[in-house]
Order: sequence, then structure tokens, then C-alpha cells
Amino acid sequence: MTDAYIPADLPEKIQHYIDGELLDSLDGDTFEVLNPVTNETYVHAAAGKKADIERAVAAATKAFNEGPWPRMLPRERSRVLNRIADLVESRDKRLAELESFDSGLPITQALGQARRAAENFRFFADLIVAQADDAYKVPGRQMNYVNRKPIGVAGLITPWNTPFMLESWKLAPALATGNTVVLKPAEFTPLSASLWAGIFEEAGLPRGVFNLVNGLGEDAGDALVKHPDVPLISFTGESSTGQLIFGNSAPFLKGLSMELGGKSPAIVFADADLDTAIDACVFGVFSLNGERCTAGSRILVQRDVYDEFVERFGEITKRVKVGLPHDPTTEVGALVHPEHYEKVMSYVELGKSEGRLIAGGGRPEGFPTGNYVSPTAFADVSPDARIFQEEIFGPVVAITPFDTDEEALELANNTKYGLAAYVWTNDLKRAHNFAQSVQAGMVWLNSNNVRDLRTPFGGVKASGLGHEGGYRSIDFYTDQQSVHITL
Ligand code: NAD
Repeated sequence: MTDAYIPADLPEKIQHYIDGELLDSLDGDTFEVLNPVTNETYVHAAAGKKADIERAVAAATKAFNEGPWPRMLPRERSRVLNRIADLVESRDKRLAELESFDSGLPITQALGQARRAAENFRFFADLIVAQADDAYKVPGRQMNYVNRKPIGVAGLITPWNTPFMLESWKLAPALATGNTVVLKPAEFTPLSASLWAGIFEEAGLPRGVFNLVNGLGEDAGDALVKHPDVPLISFTGESSTGQLIFGNSAPFLKGLSMELGGKSPAIVFADADLDTAIDACVFGVFSLNGERCTAGSRILVQRDVYDEFVERFGEITKRVKVGLPHDPTTEVGALVHPEHYEKVMSYVELGKSEGRLIAGGGRPEGFPTGNYVSPTAFADVSPDARIFQEEIFGPVVAITPFDTDEEALELANNTKYGLAAYVWTNDLKRAHNFAQSVQAGMVWLNSNNVRDLRTPFGGVKASGLGHEGGYRSIDFYTDQQSVHITL
């Protein structure tokens, strides 16, 4: 099933946005952006290089040093952020339409992500007006207080999965705290990012505060990381890219926030509410096309319920509705790009020798073009299998049995990653003790991936460095200066 669906009023080209102006690259270079349902080029985007990054950083530096934004009262900045949230909310359908078209995400899920983007702005708008900083007093002798200051130009580098929402997760706190920014969005999905410029202008964000340079990671991304006037880099992407950026930032001693890859376990104990656990595990790995950093892509099931779980999981997986991204009944759409499709398909083929295929295992019928992969599940996967160890980042899951709590923990911790873990059990003590011991930045107990924006978001081991969310984001984007006064 292919159709020629193309949203109305697509831009003729995608440009950079620097110092309030839409611009081509200085060398005129562009790259092709593909429709994931047909893999045809639907637009060209400006391919930024070092010179374009230099222009953007110069504009952001000027706005930081001379402009009003860092000097505004939190309440004034908060008003602008709330207007941004209002505008995102009022355009959520258009945003979802463009995001779904560009990334292949099911439209209903893209709509949820657009609303989350608005919520991110609203959340940080509230947080900065409620912000209280520390003060310490030694009566009659000394008074000390903390002076919180924006740092400067923040470099924001983002991936192609839920791109608009993930951009908002960095833009909102960076701007709320009075920094100026240069955003380098992912090259597979530049369309929704091109909407930020209009939204920010309409909301009254001063010129030069927000700058966007499109381009490849090794060109535009690399130049941003190596620019001496960018003291902060907030990066979300693959662990290997994070390692590279870490090294490239070292000579400049930059502040780094790294949200990296994952291979998160969902652990189902025999005493769990199996109906709920199975539904949640299906959602956890196949929603957002499986292109989700916190996907529960390894399912560990206690042997007493293993056979039943595998059979029922396989049956439900076969019924997950694969469809065109803009169809509201679609549950899994097209993967983002042919390169990524090839990678995911290579794991599907590998899985056939590493596990027992219980659902999917190739292209779904009726989708002759585009990056379609059937929701795929392998059972009996050994922990040394590559499909158990490596991040696939698609609709593919490995299921493995265990006997004891100790074995479950050992299996859960047995990868280089440590982003999320999901635990399904009705034994309260076991749930809390497991959470304490599992190597994961975030644990959901009898609960699906629901976020509270106040909580820290981040991973351990190869899944990241530092946290985003709530006050941790405020801390990352600000310097805390101690002021001491003798009384
Ligand atoms: P990626 O690492 O390939 O690219 C991410 C961004 O980095 C892109 O904008 C890219 O252009 C840029 N980039 C690439 N090389 C660069 C370089 N040398 N210097 C500077 N920038 C460079 O990741 P991806 O494939 O776009 O995204 C998928 C990955 O992101 C997965 O591993 C996923 O788990 C991870 N992710 C993590 C989280 C989280 O919060 N932990 C959230 C979403 C995605």
C-alpha cells in the first residue's frame, strides 16, 4: 500500500535560521530529505558547514552579550515561553502532520509528541518564576547566597526520533534560563524544526536568541561542538556519537549533557498482572515504531509464565496495525530512512539464527515501497546474542526466560546500556529492591513509560551522562556563583 499523500503547503526548501533570517548555506550546498513511505526526495535542505555555524554562533553571542533576553526578569521570559506553548498547542495538528510525514511516525503518536512539546515550554515557564536559590547564614558573622546566571551560547544537537519534542526538551530550559542557542537538528528529519522560527518570532523571542543550522553531523554538528564560543553542548543521539563529541569537547572543557542509546529490559515476574504486562510490553517496544530510546526492547519473563507470555505476546504482535503514517488507525508506520531500515532489517535476519521467530520477521505484506518492517519478536534469545546486546532502534524485541530474582537482575544488567527498566510484579518489596539494584537511570514499576517532567531523565553506563528534566536542566544551563558577605 503506497499512496501519494503529501501534506499541503510544504516548504519549497528548508533553510537555516540565523539572526532572524532564513538563509541558504554560504556555499549553497544542500542535502536531500526523503519521504519514508516512498523514499523519494521531497525537499532539499541547506547543508550547513563550519562557516554557517560561525555565523549562527556570532549571532547568538551578540544576542547574549548585548540583547535583552539574558537580562529579562524570569516573569518576562516566562510570558514569552507561555506564548510559545500556546502557539505550539494551537498548531499541534499541523506539527503532527509534518512530523508524521517526515519521520514515518503514526499520526496519532506524532500528535501526542506535539502536545508534549508545548507542555515542555509551559513547564519551564512555570519553573523559572518559582525558582528559589540557596542562601546560607551564619548569624552575626556571614551571609552567603547563590547567584544563578545563564552561561552563554548553548549548542543543541538532536536526533531524528520524535525530533520536534526532543528539540523542545532542550530549547525550553536553555531559553528559560536566559541562554541563547544554536540548534543542529537531525538531518533525516529537518521539517518540523523549520517551524520553530515562525513560532519564536510570533511569541516575541528577541532576534538572535534562537538560531538553527541544518546539516550533517560530521559537518555542522562537528563545527558546533568544536566552536570555542559555545560553552555548553546538550546532545541526544547514539552512544558512539556521544563518545566522539565527548572527545571533541574535551580541549574546550565544555559543559556536556548526553542522552544516549538504550537496550532497556522489561522484567515480567510470574506474580504480575499478565494482561496488563503483556499490553504494556507490546506498547513499550512497538510504539513510536520502536524508534524510542526508552523502548523495552528486551523482555525477561519468569519461566512459570514464559510459554503463556510468549504465545500471547506473539499473537498480539501479529495484530499490531502497520499502516500509512497519516492514517489515524496506524500503530506502526514506516521507519525514518532507508539507511536505518537496512540496519533494522539486518538485525531481523540475524535474529532468525539467534532466537525463535514468533511474529513478523520481514517486510509486511502490502507495502512495496518505503521503510516498512513488520513488528518482530524473537523468543528464547540467549544473553550473548547480538539482538540481546545491541540497540536495534526499531520494532524488534528479544524475549528471554529466567528462573530467580537474582538471574533476572543479572540479565537486566547484562548490557553496556542503562537507560530504563520496567518491572512487572505484585510483590511490593521485590519491586523496590529490584529498582534499587537495576542499572538504569529510570525505572517504571508496574507502569508504562509515563513521564513526570519534574523527575530526572537520563541514563547510566553507555546510556548517558547527566540528567535532563526539572531542576537538573536548570542546573545544566546555569552557573551557580556563590556570593559571601561578612556581617
Ligand atoms: P546520531 O548519534 O546518529 O545523531 C544524533 C545527532 O548528532 C544528529 O543531529 C547528527 O547529525 C549529530 N551528529 C552526528 N555525528 C556528529 C558529530 N561527529 N558531531 C556532532 N554531531 C554529530 O543519533 P540518531 O541516529 O539521530 O538517533 C538515534 C539514537 O539516539 C539512538 O541511539 C537513541 O537511543 C538515541 N536517543 C537517546 C535518547 C535519550 O534521551 N537517551 C532520546 C532519543 C534518542
